[in-house]
Amino acid sequence: MLMQTKSELALAYDISALSLDIQLQILGREPNRSLFSRFPKKLLGIGTNTKTIKGEKYGIKTAILYLMPAMGSGVQMCAMAKIAGCEGPCLFTSGRGAMSNVMLSRLRKTLYFNQYREQFMLQLQNELIRERSKAKRRGYKLIVRLNGTSDIRWENVNIGYAYANIMQALPDIQFYDYTKLANRKHIPANYDLTFSYSGVPAYAPFAAKAVANGERIAVVFRDRAIINAMLANGDTFLGLPVVDGEDTDIRHLDSRGAVVALYAKGKARRDQSGFVVG
Ligand code: SF4
Repeated sequence: MLMQTKSELALAYDISALSLDIQLQILGREPNRSLFSRFPKKLLGIGTNTKTIKGEKYGIKTAILYLMPAMGSGVQMCAMAKIAGCEGPCLFTSGRGAMSNVMLSRLRKTLYFNQYREQFMLQLQNELIRERSKAKRRGYKLIVRLNGTSDIRWENVNIGYAYANIMQALPDIQFYDYTKLANRKHIPANYDLTFSYSGVPAYAPFAAKAVANGERIAVVFRDRAIINAMLANGDTFLGLPVVDGEDTDIRHLDSRGAVVALYAKGKARRDQSGFVVG
């Protein structure tokens, strides 16, 4: 009997919607092929983000789900990305650049979410139940951000066995997200949304709607100095008071009708689309 070699492993995902260079990166490298022949063991990242780690001093552990943003997986995960001009700054690679292992992992999770929805949601629910207990044992409260790098309407994603979304299934967990979708409705009480601003002109009507709705609005400024100056001068932005959003990522405790000031990091610092302000 012939042994099956790793290179003959069947992929667990349909990768035909990915760009050709990414398909080749998966098929042409043994470790990548192996990665895409199985399901992720873990979906959530905990303690992997410097800002959320700062929340631990307030007794809060933050779990984040990182998926592949915008059209990076061949399926649109951020409906407003093009209009808001945030796709470029958000995607780690453009054109023919090779994907890092981190991005391959996000891509695999996104394919898993889109192609095995029921299994994904059950795994997510089980992982959250485990993490909630673990956090409690250590004296922390767990909060969860499912759109770490996506903009999914989670309120519309039901768990396979029930007519309930993940927030309704786990009502004692606080969920939160940033979103560029100004028209999200029927948001469960334990799901807090912060509207995410973009300075791109085409996006202005959506930003105006969020202001009119009295939302809390996150704005990414070019650098820390701009935020410091605004805070020192008591400046407003969009006619709203400005608060510092960099100390922690515990957004659900911030007031509504305010601008949460963040500053650009990494590739976003060089953004010229208008997404970053300043
Ligand atoms: S900034 Fe948000 S909406 Fe824009 S591409 Fe990134 S995750 Fe998607």
